[in-house]
Amino acid sequence: MEYLDTYKIPFAGLELGRHEFEFKVNDKFFSFFEYSIVQKANLEVMVKLVKQETMLLLTFQIEGTVMLQCDTCLSEIEYPLSLEEQLAVKFERENWSEEEENDEVMVLSNQEHELNIVKLLYDYINVAIPYYPKCEMVDKACDPEMMKIIRQDLSPNKSEENIDPRWEKLKRIKNN
Ligand SMILES: [Zn+2]
Repeated sequence: MEYLDTYKIPFAGLELGRHEFEFKVNDKFFSFFEYSIVQKANLEVMVKLVKQETMLLLTFQIEGTVMLQCDTCLSEIEYPLSLEEQLAVKFERENWSEEEENDEVMVLSNQEHELNIVKLLYDYINVAIPYYPKCEMVDKACDPEMMKIIRQDLSPNKSEENIDPRWEKLKRIKNN
């Protein structure tokens, strides 16, 4: 998991104000997640951070493509992603309650000095992709060979009607 340790933002040493960080998210990133829907990606991540006295405000801009499988013909499609997510990071206080935490607000212990963004990136990307990817979403036609096979599979009766008449004769002879 050492590779994933690079996806961290060391905020403790930063001065108050604006900062920017860049990351790449590709196949190697997703190779650590066996159950991720996305396995292949070529994404650039820009993190804009504003450090304030009591919290951090972050904007994640994620741009690039992910490889998905068409739900109809199973061929691979290069799906473009462009998303922006915002997150506020607050620090634990004495009377902190878990309810303060949600998708847009993260609460860190006062002892923390860096923010691990692996889980955030993983979730942002996997949530942003379509549930049923299809070739037409990227203006591509489904694989014609595969479509032929799928259509035959779906209508077994029809394909029987198209049996070579000579076979049909043989069948009758056999049955007699
Ligand atoms: Zn397709």
